[in-house]
Amino acid sequence: MKIYLDGKLVPEKSAKISVFDHGLLYGDGVFEGIRSYNGRVFMLKEHVDRLFRSAQAIALKIPLTREQVCRAVVRTCRANGTLNGYIRLVVTRGVGTLGLNPYLCSKPSVIIIAATIQLYPKKLYQDGLSIVTVGTIRNHTESVNPAIKSLNYLNNILAKIEAINAGCMEAVMLNPQGFVAEATGDNIFVVRGDRLVTPPPSAGTLEGITRNVVMDLARKAGLRVSEEMLTRYDLYTADEVFLTGTAAEVIGVVNIDRRTIGTGRPGDVTRRLAGLFHAFAPQNGMPI
Ligand code: PMP
Repeated sequence: MKIYLDGKLVPEKSAKISVFDHGLLYGDGVFEGIRSYNGRVFMLKEHVDRLFRSAQAIALKIPLTREQVCRAVVRTCRANGTLNGYIRLVVTRGVGTLGLNPYLCSKPSVIIIAATIQLYPKKLYQDGLSIVTVGTIRNHTESVNPAIKSLNYLNNILAKIEAINAGCMEAVMLNPQGFVAEATGDNIFVVRGDRLVTPPPSAGTLEGITRNVVMDLARKAGLRVSEEMLTRYDLYTADEVFLTGTAAEVIGVVNIDRRTIGTGRPGDVTRRLAGLFHAFAPQNGMPI
């Protein structure tokens, strides 16, 4: 595999960064996870825009323009023949001292890995996921705001540990006020009748690219879509619950905290939206 590292495509074995990089020392940096479908990089512009917003929020200056980042992603996919894959785009703060001061890090590093995709097992898309709410709360918006897709995912990892220890593959994280925020790597939706509801970014959620695509597709399909604060009551009493994310796409949730959701099978709305998403994704994106 060829890795893009600061302007060059280098063999995987020589794609190395310094132990003094603050990305490693402090999780100081930002990233994106992007898919390619059918030879197109899905929603590349939206991912790159979010990367720049994340960088701006942590006062990190990406040493490329948005267009240059897009071109570098496409170039990396081309070099690896990644026509249907998963792309990791990372910008680290760069090499600094052992102190925290980010202003002493003179040159951020840009890394692009064009890999394959690890979806949930196929059976889980048919049968639905069991998830749990966990004790680890989502970051306060005045801490590392969850809108920032930063390299510091330790909070989500703590939630993931709780989920795995409870025998589940995903966790629902609540925000400090007790409202539903999101899963550790996915956004969450509730279906009630013909209404689709998901928490607003102010609840402490990442504004997922998949989330936004699914909201658009749902509106076009005649569903009512809104962003509202949700509690666990809303999850437990929903007709359907599903998660969205770049890696997961659209996956039904049939059990939360050992309570059956809806019929206990992925519902009609979930399956319909997953179908619309699968039809939409390969048609939209920047050609490789
Ligand atoms: N929430 C979190 C915490 C995430 O890390 C992600 C991305 N993996 C998402 C939601 C989903 O966002 P997207 O649809 O842009 O992948």
